[in-house]
Amino acid sequence: MSIEINGVGKQFGDFVALDDVSLHIPTGQLTALLGPSGGGKSTLLRIIAGLEHADRGRVQIEGLDATHLPAQKRNVGFVFQHYAAFKHLTVYRNVAFGLEIRKVPKQQMRTRVNELLELVHLSQFADRLPSQLSGGQRQRMALARALAVEPNVLLLDEPFGALDAKVRKELRDWLRRLHDEVHVTTVFVTHDQEEALEVADEIVIINEGRIEQIGTPDQLYDEPANDFVMRFIGPVTELGGRLVRPHDLELVVTDPGDGHYGTVRRVVRVGYEVRVEIQAGAETVLVTASRSQFQDLGIAEGSPVWVRPQRGAMSVASSQKIPVAAG
Ligand code: ADP
Ligand code: MG
Repeated sequence: MSIEINGVGKQFGDFVALDDVSLHIPTGQLTALLGPSGGGKSTLLRIIAGLEHADRGRVQIEGLDATHLPAQKRNVGFVFQHYAAFKHLTVYRNVAFGLEIRKVPKQQMRTRVNELLELVHLSQFADRLPSQLSGGQRQRMALARALAVEPNVLLLDEPFGALDAKVRKELRDWLRRLHDEVHVTTVFVTHDQEEALEVADEIVIINEGRIEQIGTPDQLYDEPANDFVMRFIGPVTELGGRLVRPHDLELVVTDPGDGHYGTVRRVVRVGYEVRVEIQAGAETVLVTASRSQFQDLGIAEGSPVWVRPQRGAMSVASSQKIPVAAG
């Protein structure tokens, strides 16, 4: 089911939460809404769900004007960061809940719930209570419950946000595989760029109530529309007043003619990567290199060195100062 958002605006009092947002979400796609906290991601998701109404603009779901349609008539599944499970019901009954309300015949319901529990790898926990599940298992149960009623659209608002980093990583791999199996049109809110880059077919960058850019993970990374997107989507540093990726810079120990001269200020090794801070005039430039690349240079703190962009390096004009430790 495709979603069409046209000129949507939303204010809370004087505060503009969404400003003229237009967006097309194709059928079957997994789309991430990515941006800093407070940017309007949840507001947009809630407007798609019908939990909030736009002041201006229109929302269409599969060609039908849904702008004024109540949430329960939109057939959307919704999963929040803190999922409110029925504590006294088993995992099975939690997943079956929406089907029971719709009076789906017993046998059909049993088949459907068992399929879903298998899909989210919770079959062996069907008889447990939610309190007997881990955080990650609870969010998988929430997804199964949202999918039970066969929604046209699945909306996920930072569904893994409350979990620790390792579980979050597992769940995003799992969500990607799940989506490859069920292909339901999915909109996924996150403020975590790595999560969006790994999971989404397409990413919508939202900041201060506006869309900064829409693109595939590769497009955003390789062709950021502006310095905000470039900063948000990966590590950056500044060289000659332009933003560049620290791994797109190289260090040379003899004057290459086209480099920026500086001295090594600090060297930090992080796993397989070496981060080298260069003082080049007024700029502190961050360069990342592999350990062997760094060793081949034979430099240390205080060494003179030249910095230059590698061939094919992408850069964007910088409009504001940033801290150098962004890598
Ligand atoms: P995000 O999900 O990107 O973090 P939200 O959409 O939740 O951002 O919020 C965007 C802005 O709108 C925030 O500044 C938030 O405080 C404000 N906001 C959201 N909902 C309400 C509300 N019901 N009343 C007043 N302000 C709100
Ligand atoms: Mg939010």
